[in-house]
Amino acid sequence: MYVKGVGPYRAKMLSDKGLETVEDLLAYAPFRYEDRRNLKPIDELAPGEMATVIVEVGSVRVPTFQRKNLGLLEAVFKDGSRHTLLGKWFHGTYLQNILTEGQKVALYGKVELDNYRGEVLMLHPEFEILSGDDDDVEATLHTGRIVPIYSAAGKVTTRQLRILMYRILSSISAPEDFLPDRLIAELKLPDLWTAMKEIHFPGEGEQLRLLNNFRSPAQIRMIVEEFFWLECGLALKKQKARTVQGIGFALNEAVRAKIKAMLPFKPTGAQKRVLSEIAADMAATHPMSRLLQGDVGSGKTLVAAESAIIAMENGYQVCVLAPTEILATQHYFYFKNLLARLGYMVVLLTGSMTAREKRQTKKTLETGFAHVAIGTHALLEENVSFHKLGLAIVDEQHRFGVMQRLKLKEKGANPDVLVMTATPIPRTLALTVYGDLDTSIIDELPPGRKPISTRHVNADRIEQVYSFLQKQIDVGRQAYVVYPVIEESETQAMKAAEKGFQQLAEIVFPHFQVGLLHGRMSPSDKESVMAAFKSGAIQILVSTTVVEVGVDVPNATVMVIEQAERFGLAQLHQLRGRVGRGGEQSFCILVTGKLSDAGKERIRTMVDTNDGFQIAEMDLKLRGPGEFFGTKQSGLPTLRFANIVRDPELLEAARSEATSFIANPPSEEALRRAVQYLRTNWQRRYGLVQVG
Ligand code: ADP
Ligand code: MG
Repeated sequence: MYVKGVGPYRAKMLSDKGLETVEDLLAYAPFRYEDRRNLKPIDELAPGEMATVIVEVGSVRVPTFQRKNLGLLEAVFKDGSRHTLLGKWFHGTYLQNILTEGQKVALYGKVELDNYRGEVLMLHPEFEILSGDDDDVEATLHTGRIVPIYSAAGKVTTRQLRILMYRILSSISAPEDFLPDRLIAELKLPDLWTAMKEIHFPGEGEQLRLLNNFRSPAQIRMIVEEFFWLECGLALKKQKARTVQGIGFALNEAVRAKIKAMLPFKPTGAQKRVLSEIAADMAATHPMSRLLQGDVGSGKTLVAAESAIIAMENGYQVCVLAPTEILATQHYFYFKNLLARLGYMVVLLTGSMTAREKRQTKKTLETGFAHVAIGTHALLEENVSFHKLGLAIVDEQHRFGVMQRLKLKEKGANPDVLVMTATPIPRTLALTVYGDLDTSIIDELPPGRKPISTRHVNADRIEQVYSFLQKQIDVGRQAYVVYPVIEESETQAMKAAEKGFQQLAEIVFPHFQVGLLHGRMSPSDKESVMAAFKSGAIQILVSTTVVEVGVDVPNATVMVIEQAERFGLAQLHQLRGRVGRGGEQSFCILVTGKLSDAGKERIRTMVDTNDGFQIAEMDLKLRGPGEFFGTKQSGLPTLRFANIVRDPELLEAARSEATSFIANPPSEEALRRAVQYLRTNWQRRYGLVQVG
């Protein structure tokens, strides 16, 4: 479609923002609205009110008396009133080239009284240059109404976007509305066409407060719609998966006996419940797709090992995919420790192994000699094949996407899949990103755990931390001191850890055994340091974030996190989870330099709560859904109107409607139409693989 005013130049800038089609543009919603209904001549302006004036630029000047660096710009505006209006912009000297005498502009801002001159004044008003070639209708788009404010797309201004939206809306006809009537009636939503128009150009009667909270009827309609189709897609995917032939694992006495023989302790009630959910899935003849959630230290890995036994006792192999080499190595030892004495063979496959080692390991998998393969992305490579893969466990840590899960599945004939997350995921994200999975939650910690006491200490008071460490070690405990790895580069963190190590080992605690652990060490060196810490030979372990996951030393009671301001909340919580695993009171000490506002919020959250779910919610709030996972491949759907942080209750509503719509469609025809619509319009956007 041709839209007047979009030449190749602007088209390029729009497409850089992902705005390629008319549909894209119409989905580019204003991020806020301004009430410019209060349009007044200068003489009627009253100090204190928000108002819009349409005026002509008189003089523009940079006063010479001002102190340096203020960059003050003053402009006088007139509209035929007796008085003039003064506009002031600090750091506004660039406006000299923008505002020119005689120009017609709309100003919007708070009216103040300039005591010095006795004139009305606007400080930093919003302004728009009204060009002479606007046609009459288009001129009214910008003032005298509630005006949409778009974020600029390159050099395409909010004003140009407004005109563009207007032109598009006046040249297309009403689109077909696919949202089920029942939903529209239930939630009293406006129809699609009305909603689209109202989003861009709210009607007279709209309330500004609702609009700016994204709660006008039109906005609610678009938000609900987006969530509804997303949840329909996920529900369809789930439904379809139930029709696929998978493995029905037998759950007999032999299996139970083996699990019992493996267990080092009595499972918690939550672990038992979750295992029975998994076992029921595994026994069913369709493939399992289950998400296992639980706070750090809640004992997810143990449940994973139990599930592995179910598969292995049925003659199948198991693989465990981990996001990093260190984590894979740790899982390897954990599983080997539990399973080897029962006669199962556990192997490790990572990228850093030699070609020969890899070849040998792959052979054991192909022939079925090995029962459990634990590894990193290396497991996903083409040339890795299994004799008989029955269960794939993915330790996500939010790092793997849908595609990788699929790749893993293809290594077997519809194996069961269990996804574990290192830290809890807020419910809204679980519903969107993992919405096609069934969920199990371990909401109970193993018995005897005392809540970890967390404190914040400024780096210049590190002496306090040292004397605290001294006391804890004197009574026989052990401690971690951790340095952050920033943006996947170990080098800097390694240097910081090495320096810290020297300081502690040589100056502060020469009488203790201090160990050092970082990612650049050889696997065998790492292993021996970890073993020494585990046995108690080392009292203080200085490390980079390699201990983030997996290390398990119940006698360690202190976790000191250096430069804690550099860690994200999830990571801090994960690290803290390394202590508090025994019966003794444990401590987490967050050492920071100067804190940003967000940094303060993070530290406060850590000090205030030990609840991983609460921390995850805060993390999502502070960082937003895009950053929460920290990777592009997270499978986060592209949402244009909806926002899971802002709209959790609309997500819940849309989800319950979607679930019942798919389970009990009003008619076959309605379902067929919905599936068709989803396929053509939403599948790609949501990254939904194989819907319907
Ligand atoms: P997660 O993987 O959920 O962070 P882990 O599986 O590493 O947790 O378990 C944390 C610690 O708790 C480990 O030391 C583990 O051996 C121990 N643990 C797990 N389940 C129990 C249980 N039921 N009773 C006692 N200790 C347990
Ligand atoms: Mg099954």
